Amino acid sequence: MTCSLFDVFKIGIGPSSSHTVGPMLAARSFVLGLQESGRLAEVSRVKVQLFGSLGATGWGHGTGTAVVLGLEGERPDTVDVDTVPSRVHEIRSRNELTLLGVRHIAFDTTADLVRHMTKRLRFHPNALEFTAWVGKTKIADEIYYSIGGGAIVADDGSGQPPIPADERQWPYRFSRGSTLIDLCNENQLTIPGLMFANECAQQSADEVIVGIDRIWSVMTDCIDIGCRTDGTLPGGLFVTRRASALHKRLQRRTETNDPLAALDWVTLWALATNEQNAAGGRIVTAPTNGAAGVVPAVGMYAHTFIPGVGDEMIRDYLLTCGALGVVFKGSGSISGAEVGCQGEVGCASAMAAAGLAQLLGGTPQQVVNAAEIALEHHLGLTCDPIGGLVQIPCIERNAIAAVKSITAARMAINDDGYQYVTLDNCVRTMMQTGLDMNAKYKETARGGLAVSIVEC
Ligand code: SF4
Repeated sequence: MTCSLFDVFKIGIGPSSSHTVGPMLAARSFVLGLQESGRLAEVSRVKVQLFGSLGATGWGHGTGTAVVLGLEGERPDTVDVDTVPSRVHEIRSRNELTLLGVRHIAFDTTADLVRHMTKRLRFHPNALEFTAWVGKTKIADEIYYSIGGGAIVADDGSGQPPIPADERQWPYRFSRGSTLIDLCNENQLTIPGLMFANECAQQSADEVIVGIDRIWSVMTDCIDIGCRTDGTLPGGLFVTRRASALHKRLQRRTETNDPLAALDWVTLWALATNEQNAAGGRIVTAPTNGAAGVVPAVGMYAHTFIPGVGDEMIRDYLLTCGALGVVFKGSGSISGAEVGCQGEVGCASAMAAAGLAQLLGGTPQQVVNAAEIALEHHLGLTCDPIGGLVQIPCIERNAIAAVKSITAARMAINDDGYQYVTLDNCVRTMMQTGLDMNAKYKETARGGLAVSIVEC
C-alpha cells in the first residue's frame, strides 16, 4: 500500500496511463529481466500479446507505440515525446527494433504484437504477455497487469491475484477517508501536513519540495503548450483542438463584469491539458492520463483567482489531492477498465475538490467531504471513448469535472462538516457499481458513445 503522492502523480506520456504508461513500463521491465538473466544478447524473437481492454482499445490509446519503445528501454518520464512518431515509423517500416538499445531483432508489429480483441486474463482487464526465444527455445514468459494510473504488477504464477508490494515505512498509513481524518485529528495535522510527513520519511524535505514543484511545472508546461497548439488530434477522428482558439478569445475579452468568466479559464486549462494528452505529449497522471486535466485546471484556478494562493500553497493543494488519490488507489480503483470513468474522472474531480477545499481553509473533515461530494456525482459514469481514443468524451469531460470540483469544494466549506454519505461509503458504492457495470462500458469502446456515433 502506498501513502505517497509521487505514486499518484507520475510524469509520463499521453494518451493513457493504463494503456500507454503501464505497458511501456511493463515492456521495459521484461527486457531488463532478460538483461539480468544474462541472456539478452542471445534473444532472437520477442512476442507481445495484449488482452482485455488493452487488446480492444489499445491501438487508439497508443499501447503498440508504448510497448515497442519500452522494449527499446524507454521510460515514460524521460522518453523524448517529439521523436516518438518518427521512431515508431522507423520500427514499423524496417520491421526491427533494438532491445534496451543493444540487441537488434526482427520485430513485425503485426505478427509479434498481437491484439486479442475479446479475450481477457483473469486477474485484471489490462493484461500483457511477453515471450522471448533464443532460436526455437522459449527462454522467458511474463504476464503483467496494468492496474491503473501507470502502475503495473507482474503475475507471479502462484494462481493468486497479484498485489502491488510496498515495503516502505510510513508514519501515517491510511487507505480510507475515515482513517485519514482520524490521523489528522489525533496528531493535530492538516492533510497536506500529514502527507508531507509521510513523504519526508522517504526522502529529504528539500527533495520532496523539488519533486512536488516538478509535478506542478510539468502540469503548467502542458497547459502552456496546449494553449498554443492548434490543428487536429491524431488517431483518425480528426478532432479539432479547441484550447488555442479559446485561449485567444479569452485574452481578447475586454468586459470584466462576467461573474462566471473564471469558469471559461478553468475550461481552457482542462481542455489544453487533455488535448496535449490526446496528442501523446508529456503529461502528469492525475490520477490517470485520461483524467489528467482536472487537477491542473483547478490548481490554476486557485493560483489565478484566489487571493494569496501562490506556489507554496500549490504544494499544499497537490499534497491534499495526492492524499485523496492514495485513498482511491488503496480502497477503490482508478482504472476505467475496472470501474468505468467514475474511477478516472470521478476520482480526479474528487481529488481536485479536496485540494481546493484545503486552500479555502477546510478542516480535514470538510476536505474529505468535498471529495465525497465530487465523487458521488460521478457515480455510474461509464467509459465509452469513441474509436477507443482518449478524446471524445474524455477531453470535455475533464472541463466539466473541474467545474464540479469547484462547486463541491465550496459546498463542503460552507457546510458544518456533517455528510450523510461518507467518502468510504461512496468509494464502496463506486466499486460495486463498477462490478455491476457491463463490460462494454469499461474502456472497451463497445458501448455508449463509442457505438452511437458513426465514424466517418
Ligand atoms: S471515458 Fe473516462 S475512463 Fe474512459 S478513456 Fe475517457 S477519461 Fe478515461
